[in-house]
Amino acid sequence: MSETCIFCRIVKGEIPALKVYEDDDLIAFLDIQPANPGHTLIMPKEHYPSLAETPDEELGKLFIAAKRAAKAAADAVGTSDFNLIVNNGPDAGQIIGHVHIHAIPRFADDGHRHWAKKSVSEETMKDVAAKMKDRLG
Ligand code: 5GP
Ligand code: ZN
Repeated sequence: MSETCIFCRIVKGEIPALKVYEDDDLIAFLDIQPANPGHTLIMPKEHYPSLAETPDEELGKLFIAAKRAAKAAADAVGTSDFNLIVNNGPDAGQIIGHVHIHAIPRFADDGHRHWAKKSVSEETMKDVAAKMKDRLG
């Protein structure tokens, strides 16, 4: 637990939240500034600052809970489509330093856009692929 973390304070009940699921390890609650109705945050109760810093053992249960919460959120607001998103690090848009998965129900023409596509040279693509293969063993 981190004394200064807003999400740890939600876990402890010190800050109110619309909780939709809770067990010994995980909690899910509605995002206070939703991208769409039903926008839900799913996270471990334990304080890990980011996805990259979360132990592998935690991730299976977390991802299954995210899938279940996303389906429930989508169903509750009348759709079957959703995005699961993790912002890892400030340059990726992470604001709260307690790992969480966003489940965002989606509707046709809801105004959200996917990332802009960039043209990357074949040389760079091959260089990145080679470096990744090295790192992934
Ligand atoms: P991030 O950018 O870190 O991936 O997303 C943080 C999310 O937490 C944002 O979508 C923001 O609206 C939500 N959030 C921030 N503070 C609170 C809060 O006190 N309560 C709830 N329910 N959501 C919060
Ligand atoms: Zn925390």
